[in-house]
Amino acid sequence: MTLPAFSSLFAQPTGSPIRELFPYLSQPGIISLAGGYPSPSLFDVEGLDEACQRTMVRGGAVLQYGPTEGQPELREALGALMAGRGGVAGAGDVLVTTGSQQAFDLLLRVFLDPGDTVLIESPAYPAAIQALRLANARLITVPTDANGLDIDRLRVILAESPIHQRPKLLYTVPNFSNPGGTLLADGRRRELVALAVEYGVLIVEDDPYGELTFTGHKATTLYQYGAEWQASDNPVVYLSSLSKTVAPALRTGWLVARPDVLRRCAIAKQTVDLCTSALTQAIAAEYLRLGRYEERVSLAAAEYSRRMQTLTEALSETLTDRVRFVTPEGGMFLWVDIVSPIDSAVLFQAAVRANVLYVPGTAFDPEGKGLQAMRLSFAGPDMPQIQEAVVRLGQAFAEAETA
Ligand code: PMP
Repeated sequence: MTLPAFSSLFAQPTGSPIRELFPYLSQPGIISLAGGYPSPSLFDVEGLDEACQRTMVRGGAVLQYGPTEGQPELREALGALMAGRGGVAGAGDVLVTTGSQQAFDLLLRVFLDPGDTVLIESPAYPAAIQALRLANARLITVPTDANGLDIDRLRVILAESPIHQRPKLLYTVPNFSNPGGTLLADGRRRELVALAVEYGVLIVEDDPYGELTFTGHKATTLYQYGAEWQASDNPVVYLSSLSKTVAPALRTGWLVARPDVLRRCAIAKQTVDLCTSALTQAIAAEYLRLGRYEERVSLAAAEYSRRMQTLTEALSETLTDRVRFVTPEGGMFLWVDIVSPIDSAVLFQAAVRANVLYVPGTAFDPEGKGLQAMRLSFAGPDMPQIQEAVVRLGQAFAEAETA
């Protein structure tokens, strides 16, 4: 039979630019700096095993459907985690989601009509760009620098935005951003919240990486600044996840928001998956109860910090004047601007031939143009692999420069 027409959004779909790199991973001997995956060697398998056992002895209840908002014990535990992050949330402010990716999707369903305007940082997390495109949003990019979102530029954009096209949302990853690796400066956080209040823009604070700090400093969340500004009318919705701190397979994320937003997101979630798996929620809650979380996160952050140092030192040595980067203070990513006058598509192909993979900057450009940059993840490969990867990148640059 001839299929009925796909919806206009899916007539000519483009998949995730990162997932499209997956076929290269099967190239024998390739070293990948492309993935956004946490290192499997850092997963707390022993702790999760214990959490699984404690879960299963509880019997059938953990195999049942649960409330859409999440299992009370996990909401409680996540509320407590938020308190540790300088947040102000209690269990009732937390909606458990199937990964934080779902939380973002729910927010878009709740707030956006086709053609609505959304502000997004550039470079930006590709899955956020993709979700916004599929919501038919009109995107306006806000540039970033070494200290995160460029607030002066944002002020101009907002002042110039016509009233009938006022942005509804602003999406940002303020802590060790993906892909920029930057940390939004404290002063800018206050200014950002003030601007959001002034212009009636909801800030979507996506924070999967904030706890992976290399310096011990945990920045005050925008959510907390928002609560200090207007407790009942917080202009910030906070998203986070256990994917980078415990394990992505738990698919446990959460959203913290004021009650009117949270209730609508819960209703949207009813139509998406009814509820996040009660089984994985119980495992996550049992895991958090074991008291190993803080120590394991610190161990992971220390290891990522060492890997980041190895990467930046090797790059400085090998690619000295050909690249520029800001050393991250946490997270999993290094954003590298390519200063050499080379064609980035040629460089990427040369890198694949040299058996090293990274994500080209273009994948992170909300305007879909080209960014003369690359995102290097230091989370996956170990130290010797990182050193070898940079040697290969050096070969790729040399090849691209003579192409
Ligand atoms: N936001 C950002 C910035 C991310 O990097 C990721 C994961 N790569 C997510 C959200 C999605 O995380 P989760 O596994 O919780 O869906």
